[in-house]
Amino acid sequence: MHPVHRSGLLLLALVMTSAATMTAQSDPALERARKILRSVPLIDGHNDLAWEIRSSKTAPRDVAAYDLRGHAPGHTDLERLKAGQVGAQFWSIYVPGEVKDSGFARIQLEQFDIALRAIARYPDRLTLALTAADIEREFKRGRIASLLGMEGGHVIENSLGALRAYYDLGARYLTLTHNVTLDWADAAADSARHGGLTEFGREVVREMNRMGMLVDLSHVSPGTMSDALDVAEAPVIFSHSSARALTDHVRNVPDSILQRLPKNGGVVMVTFVPAFVSQEVADWEKIATEEGKKVEAQVSDTVERRRQMDAWVAAHPRPDATLAQVADHIDHVRKLAGVDHVAIGSDFDGIEHTPVGLENVSTFPQLFAELIRRGWSDDDLRKLAGRNLLRVLRGAESTATRLQRDRQPSTRTIEQLDRPPVSS
Ligand SMILES: [Zn+2]
Repeated sequence: MHPVHRSGLLLLALVMTSAATMTAQSDPALERARKILRSVPLIDGHNDLAWEIRSSKTAPRDVAAYDLRGHAPGHTDLERLKAGQVGAQFWSIYVPGEVKDSGFARIQLEQFDIALRAIARYPDRLTLALTAADIEREFKRGRIASLLGMEGGHVIENSLGALRAYYDLGARYLTLTHNVTLDWADAAADSARHGGLTEFGREVVREMNRMGMLVDLSHVSPGTMSDALDVAEAPVIFSHSSARALTDHVRNVPDSILQRLPKNGGVVMVTFVPAFVSQEVADWEKIATEEGKKVEAQVSDTVERRRQMDAWVAAHPRPDATLAQVADHIDHVRKLAGVDHVAIGSDFDGIEHTPVGLENVSTFPQLFAELIRRGWSDDDLRKLAGRNLLRVLRGAESTATRLQRDRQPSTRTIEQLDRPPVSS
C-alpha cells in the first residue's frame, strides 16, 4: 500500500463503503444481469473442483472433508455458486498427461468417483445431468445441473471401448488432448507430431459423435482443431479457451477457426485464465518461466531456488488481467463467429490467479453487467449464458440418435488405422 495520510484513509474508506452500497443496491446493469440469469441457466464449461478436492493438502480425495456448505478454500462452494447464479456446471474430471504411474485410466476412474460423490453429497443443491433436458429440468427445480467433462484423450489409452465405458459413467465431453501430444492427436502446448489428428484420432471423433459426447477442442493444436472440424458431424465446443487475436497464447482459438464455427454450430466457452486473457500476463509468464529455468540450472538447493524466484517476482510484479479484458474476448468471438457461438468456461479452481473482478464463482453476474453496459441485448446474453450450449448439446444428442440408426460401436484399433502392416 502507498503511504496515505490518516484522514485521507478515512475518506477513502467512506468513499469505498458508499461505492459498495451503490453496487449492491442500485446498479441497474447488475440488476438486469441478475434477472436474465434467473430466466436461463448459466452454464459454465470448466471448473476444476474435483482436482482441487483430490489434491487438498489437509485431506486429499476426501469429499466429506472438503465441505462445500462452508467457505471452501478454493473458488467454489455452494454459497458462492448461488450468489453467482450458476445454473449448470461442467465439472472437469482432469487427469494430467504427464503422470505415469499405474496408468491414466485408474486416475480417471478416481476422478469420476470424487466428482460423483461430491455431486451426490448435496442432493438439495446439485444433480447429475446427462442431457440438455436434464439441465433445463434441474434449473427449474433450483438445482445446479452437474455434468462431467473429461480433460485429456490420453485417458482412453487408445481404446474406443474405454471411451464408451466413460460415456456410460456420465462423461459428456472429452477434451481431445491436455498439454501432451498423444499417439493420435497434437496438443497446443506440445510438438505437432501428426499435423493434427491421425486416422484413429478421426475415428475417436466419429465415435464420440455416434455416442453424443461433445468433442472439446480446448488444449489441442490448430491442426487438431481443423481436422476435428473436418470430420465432426455434431457441433464442437472449446470448454475453456479465449481468442488468439487478442492474446497470443497457444491455448487460444485463432480467427481462422472461429470463422468455421457457424457452419459447425459449435461454441467457444471464453475462459478467465489470466495468461489467455491478457497479453501482458502472457508475456510476464513467458519471462518468469525462462527465469525459473535459469535459476533451476544454476541452483541445486530447492529452498534457495524458491527464495531466488520469490525475490525475482517481488522485483517484477505479476500484472493482473481484468474482467473488462474477458469481456473483450467475448466481444471478439461474437464479432468473428457470431453471437450464437460464444459461451463461458471459467476454469475456476484450475487457476492460481484470477482476473480482477472475477475472483470466484460468485462473480459471474458482474461479467453480464459489463456486457449490458456495452450494449448487449437480453436475448443475446441468454444465448451467451446457456442457450447456445443447450443448442450444442441438443445437436450432439440428435446427431447421436441419427448415427446410431445405421452405425454400430466402432471396434477399430489404433494398430489397424495408424500402423498398417507394410504391404509386400
Ligand atoms: Zn485445462
